[in-house]
Amino acid sequence: MSTIEPNFQRILLVDDDLVVRARVSESLAQEGFEVILAKDGNEGIMAYQEYRPDLILVDAVMPILDGFEFCEQIKQLGDRLTPILMITSLDDNESIDRAFSAGATDYISKPINLSVVRQRVKNLIRQSQLIKDQLNELQQANQNLKLLANLDSLTQLSNRRGFDDYIQKEWDRMQRIKAPLSLIMCDVDFFKNYNDRYLHPNGDKCLIKVAVAMRKTVRRSGDLVARYGGEEFAIVLPNTNVLGATSVAENVRTAIKNLQIAHEDSSVCPYVTISVGVSTIIPSQSNDFQALIHAADRALYQAKSQGRDRVSTLIV
Ligand SMILES: [Mg+2]
Repeated sequence: MSTIEPNFQRILLVDDDLVVRARVSESLAQEGFEVILAKDGNEGIMAYQEYRPDLILVDAVMPILDGFEFCEQIKQLGDRLTPILMITSLDDNESIDRAFSAGATDYISKPINLSVVRQRVKNLIRQSQLIKDQLNELQQANQNLKLLANLDSLTQLSNRRGFDDYIQKEWDRMQRIKAPLSLIMCDVDFFKNYNDRYLHPNGDKCLIKVAVAMRKTVRRSGDLVARYGGEEFAIVLPNTNVLGATSVAENVRTAIKNLQIAHEDSSVCPYVTISVGVSTIIPSQSNDFQALIHAADRALYQAKSQGRDRVSTLIV
């Protein structure tokens, strides 16, 4: 819903005629608008850039920079939203055509009728406010879609796409500041057996509990916990050395085990456990984040082959 609050609307009035400036600005000020004045197109452009008005009233005929050139410059500055009301001479059809083709939203004719000005201004501001509201809603919807697209629907963690975006971004950032980037890869031990014995709905519940425990354990705001796929999770730790990452990995492993989720078909523990691979790298141009993923995967494989329910670390 859009409500116009005149007190918060700012109008730029550009006219070389002192009398017009005085009459129109007084009339608009009485309506509660804030009015910024400029006496030619150049001054108008400067005032536009400084005050970012909600609407522009501009005279067609002015010295130095006229109203048509003024409109074109506003468009060149990338503004296609601010309504421009052009003041033309009465019945000057050529000026009216030029005004529209220069980018004016509407026109009024001289001699100026103040009540017409007020009504036009209010209508144009209402329309432009509606458009701005709709744009905001669209942007918000797009933002939400983007977040959803990066979210795993089961665990509410980042999904693989969110992980890929994030690790690339942090890879680039760590390369710039020459700091270590660590990655933890975890796998739920004997998860296929778990699903076979307890069935998939319980398998899903198990993954949710594991995800929640991971997120509670990994608390630094720049760290990202993601569902990498199936029963595999990944944790990105920017600006973290191998000691720090190994300690986080150990905490995560312990947290999962402490959930004490019964797993009768695990050969290493009566509860659900995870195997964890850790790797750390200082990103450089001769490498990319795939090298880090590959190393963490190898560490994870090592943790599994050494008996599972453990952390294995590999330095690149
Ligand atoms: Mg004039």
